[in-house]
Amino acid sequence: MFEPVIGIEVHTQLKTESKLFCSCSTRFDAAPNRNTCPVCLGLPGALPVLNKKALLFGIKTGLAFNCEIAEFSGFDRKNYFYPDLSKNYQITQDAFPIGTNGHIDVMTDGKTRRIRIKRVHLEEDAGKSVHEGGTITGAAYSLEDYNRAGVPLLEIVSEPDIRSPKEAYEYLLMLRRILLYLEVSDCKMEEGSLRCDVNISIRPEGSDEFGTQVELKNLNSFRAVERSLEYEVERQSQLVASGGEVIRETRHWDEASQVTVSMRRKERAEDYRYFPEPDLAQLNIRRSWVDEIKATLPELPAARRMRFIESYGLPEYDASLLTDTKELADYFEAVVREYGEAKTVSNWIMGELSRLMNATGIGIESVKVRPGDIAAMLKMIDKGTISGKIAKTVFEEMFAEGKSPETIVKEKGLVQITDEEELAKIVDCVIEENREVADQVREGKDKALGFLVGQVMKMTKGRANPQAVNKLLRQRLAN
Ligand SMILES: [Zn+2]
Repeated sequence: MFEPVIGIEVHTQLKTESKLFCSCSTRFDAAPNRNTCPVCLGLPGALPVLNKKALLFGIKTGLAFNCEIAEFSGFDRKNYFYPDLSKNYQITQDAFPIGTNGHIDVMTDGKTRRIRIKRVHLEEDAGKSVHEGGTITGAAYSLEDYNRAGVPLLEIVSEPDIRSPKEAYEYLLMLRRILLYLEVSDCKMEEGSLRCDVNISIRPEGSDEFGTQVELKNLNSFRAVERSLEYEVERQSQLVASGGEVIRETRHWDEASQVTVSMRRKERAEDYRYFPEPDLAQLNIRRSWVDEIKATLPELPAARRMRFIESYGLPEYDASLLTDTKELADYFEAVVREYGEAKTVSNWIMGELSRLMNATGIGIESVKVRPGDIAAMLKMIDKGTISGKIAKTVFEEMFAEGKSPETIVKEKGLVQITDEEELAKIVDCVIEENREVADQVREGKDKALGFLVGQVMKMTKGRANPQAVNKLLRQRLAN
């Protein structure tokens, strides 16, 4: 049996207003080449100046991934020629990354494993080639858009600690969750603000040695990462089992046919002639600043999940779902502050609210129901003002209109009937109309009683208090 050895490099775009070394906007949807200047185009004589916020975001992320933050850091030039890189070099961090030796804990199938983070570093993005006519080989000509050139990226490199395609998927989910909690990146794969490259080798289970690495490209979703890895584990295992040898190469994931295709062989690592960027000062990152940033870190997803289990007594399943995004976790806690029964709140959020959100495609940030209104509705159920069943109708209206539960109940006349005299009239009417069934109740048939309760509920459109109805029916039909 073979075991996969997987490492992942993630490039995520930092959510700064301006680029990494100039004041050009980082907006995604501007007209081509609108957001450019001599610095990000690399015109002679233009000098880069580091964006402090990007550095701050980098340190923040490094801390969240439990990295050591470098006291001494700086930038290097990575030299290569490509049309989307007008400078012919990319400013990146090679020798002195911001963060090193970190880790995050990843849970797969209920088991937690620690994945080490090798390094976290800042670099600028390249421009974008648009191949007119589709593919790079079939295009009549290509156009260059340098709006993206110089946009700050953070590269997060894992050690080859990941041991299954599913764990790779969970690792990426956790990584994205952390970045979103930190509010340093949008992490939108479809807009390219989060990209990942994966490398995978296999080895006999129990071995400490590393096999020949294959790099996978064109991974446009976390599911694509998982599936391409599943495919590669199978392909490499079969190859080696039948006496073949894995070649060091880059393979392209073909989403349509769900296979990886050989792109190019990698005989040796490319020589990028890295050297220190002479136009930027080296960085001495003050410890006091790092401490200041540390103090602003939000509670991270794993810690929040634990707290939800421990202080609210929620099951692990609830806690995981509720802490999936910071917004959802904040929403839950806002309701719980006004209505203390955490599990009841969790049931409503994961039940009715999630159901309606899925059905309408609305995210928690756009939900019209205010946390206080859910609390108010739950209190109305407790007081007997509305039944649990009616509450679902009320809640649907709250979700659609954003009105308070009190207003909806008043407008629609949904107040539960608890007045005994009023209920008694209805109960008598139901007994009168269902004499045979009433006789069966007198003979002690509980099923018949249920039927009569149902009739009363029907007549009152669910507004009768079922306990009160039950009591009245029993009194009237007692022998
Ligand atoms: Zn610029």
